Amino acid sequence: MNDRLEPATIAAQAAGAQDVATGGVVPGISVASTYLRGEDYGLLRPENTYGRDQNDTVRQAEEVVRALEGAAASLLFPSGMAAVAAVFRALPSGARVVMQTGIYWGTLKWVRDYCVRRAIILDEVEASDAAALAAACRSSADMVWIETPSNPWLRCVDITAAAGHAHKAGAVLVVDGTAATPVLTRALDLGADVVMHSATKALNGHSDVLAGVLSCRDDALPMWAEIATDRHDAGAIIGPFEAWLLMRGMRTLPLRLERMCANAQAVAEWLDAHEGVEAVLYPGLPGHEGHEVAARQMRGGYGYLLSFLVKGDRARALDVVGRLRLFHRATSLGGVESLVEHRHTIEPHTGIPETLLRLSVGIEDAGDLIGDLAGALG
Ligand SMILES: *Cc1c(COP(=O)(O)O)cnc(C)c1O
Repeated sequence: MNDRLEPATIAAQAAGAQDVATGGVVPGISVASTYLRGEDYGLLRPENTYGRDQNDTVRQAEEVVRALEGAAASLLFPSGMAAVAAVFRALPSGARVVMQTGIYWGTLKWVRDYCVRRAIILDEVEASDAAALAAACRSSADMVWIETPSNPWLRCVDITAAAGHAHKAGAVLVVDGTAATPVLTRALDLGADVVMHSATKALNGHSDVLAGVLSCRDDALPMWAEIATDRHDAGAIIGPFEAWLLMRGMRTLPLRLERMCANAQAVAEWLDAHEGVEAVLYPGLPGHEGHEVAARQMRGGYGYLLSFLVKGDRARALDVVGRLRLFHRATSLGGVESLVEHRHTIEPHTGIPETLLRLSVGIEDAGDLIGDLAGALG
C-alpha cells in the first residue's frame, strides 16, 4: 500500500490485505509449513518454498508495519527480544556498541551478557544528554542503540541528532520505538537506520500476542541482509496465527493511540497536581526534561506510558498499587486495558526508586481511571 496514506487508512485496511482466493474482505490464515511443486518440479508460487520465513500471513502483517513506518522492508520476529537479539547477532565479534543506559531492563540484561560472550565492546551512556552521546560517538563505533521515550524513565532522545552522531562515528542508529509506535514517531524519517518495536505492546494492543518487528530505511544496508539471512537460517519465525492476530490488532492502532494518549495526558496532569505525588515522568508535561524533544519528534500525542513517584516509602507505594481497582497489577504495556507496575519489585538492583509506579494507560474512560487513582492515593 502507498506509504504516503495516513496511518489511520493504512491500518484500517491492513495495507490492502485481502483474501484473493475466496474474495474475503479480510485475509485468511495461511497455515502451511511447506509448499507444492508442479510436475515440472517448479514451485506453484516461486516466493513460497518452506514455512520457515515464507508465509503469506506473516508477509501481510509485515507490510502493514512497513507502510506505517515508511520503511524499505520490515521483518517480524516471535517477540520483541527476538528482534533485539537479531540485531545484535548481525554484529561482528569485537564490534563497539554505544547504548543508551536506563532503558528496558530485558534489553539491558540480555545485551550486557551477550556482549561479554561475543567480545563486543559495550559503552552505556545517558543518551538523552546530547553532550554525553556526542562524546561517546567521538571514537568509531558499529552501532548506536537508543530507546525513546525510554521505559520506565520516559527519557527522550533527539533521533535526528543521534543519527548525526552515530553516522559520524561510522555506526548505524537503531531505535527501540516501542513506547512511541510508528504512528507517533517515524524514526526512519528522522534518520534512524533500523527501528525496532515490541509488537507485543501497542502495535497489537490486546495483550494476547508476543511479537517483535524490525524495519529498515534502506534494505541495501549490510546489517539488514545479515538480519534477514539469520532469521531465515536460524529460524526465529513468528507463527501465522500470531501474525494474523497482530494484523487484526493493528487495524485500530491509530484509533487506540488517540484515546490512550489523551487518557495518559489527562492522568499525568491530574497526578502532577496531586499532593501525594512526588513527581510525574511523562513527556507530555511541559515541565518534563524531554518535553521539547518529544514535541519535535512525536505527532498526535506523547504516548501511553508514564511513571510517577509516590510521596512516602516502598510500603506506601505498594499500598497505593494494592488499592487500585481498575488498573490491573501486571507487567507489560500498550494494551487496551490499563496496567500498573511496581518496577522495583521486578528489577531491585538497577536504581529504580522504590516509590516509582509505572502506568500503561489504556482506552477506558479517563474519568474512571482518574477516579481509581484518586481512591488509591486517598
Ligand atoms: C517489552 C519491551 C521489549 C521486549 O519485547 P517482548 O515482546 O516482551 O520480547 C523491548 N523494548 C521495550 C521498550 C519493551 O517495552
